[in-house]
Amino acid sequence: MLKSKESETVNSPTTPEPKVGIFWLFRDRIIVDSTPLSKAEPYGNALGHTTSHIDFWTRQQHTGAVPREVEYEEQPRGRVVYDRREERFHLLADKCILGRRDVVGRLMAVMNLPPDKTSEGRDEHYRCFECLYPAVDEDDDF
Ligand SMILES: [Zn+2]
Repeated sequence: MLKSKESETVNSPTTPEPKVGIFWLFRDRIIVDSTPLSKAEPYGNALGHTTSHIDFWTRQQHTGAVPREVEYEEQPRGRVVYDRREERFHLLADKCILGRRDVVGRLMAVMNLPPDKTSEGRDEHYRCFECLYPAVDEDDDF
């Protein structure tokens, strides 16, 4: 299952502690920036990651990890937050990610999320360009 090491960008070594964070699916690569739950930022009942999508992506562009011409909101993305009242993780993402069980599985593994304590859901903020602007293909005949 977890054979690919080269395909994930994780900013901390693997620990058993669950993490919250932000992620993208970019050209079949999972890009994650995460914080261990014990260091997550509280806001309301939630514990979340402090770095925003735009900040992290911009940094990746500067290091050359992602192309400069690709905007942060262009690719399927999402985030993981922890709800302290529910004591559950919420993996909120673009439907292009939620529809890929292999990708969701890899995200759960990278972030050490307990499957029985993690809910998945869509978020209106997370719609990639393919969701927002579906290509109209004239030659499409199903
Ligand atoms: Zn999408």
